[in-house]
Amino acid sequence: MNSAEVDVAAATPTCQICGRSWGRDDDPEDWLGVEVDFSGGRLYAAFCSREHAQEWFAKPLPEPPPRVPPAPLDTGERALIFGVGTLAVLAAAVFVIGAITIVRAALGWLG
Ligand SMILES: [Zn+2]
Repeated sequence: MNSAEVDVAAATPTCQICGRSWGRDDDPEDWLGVEVDFSGGRLYAAFCSREHAQEWFAKPLPEPPPRVPPAPLDTGERALIFGVGTLAVLAAAVFVIGAITIVRAALGWLG
């Protein structure tokens, strides 16, 4: 099984009780999906019928999947952020110097 098949399987709702996958011939109105928010993560569950949803809720809730930490920035991204920040500071400095120069020139012309 390659990774593409795994992705397709993950996108297809599967009943948490009987393990049946949602098919094209199934009436979408029969299927139920619930999203349970825990403080530590989020759990999604699908059911082929109200009876199976009821059965699932009658049991203790399963542990939520572990929260996936955000991927750390790689060196290229850090360099880009540092570069953009440096450019912004330089642009601000050039603007201030230009403004001071214009004001001095205007005062010089007036005086
Ligand atoms: Zn079911």
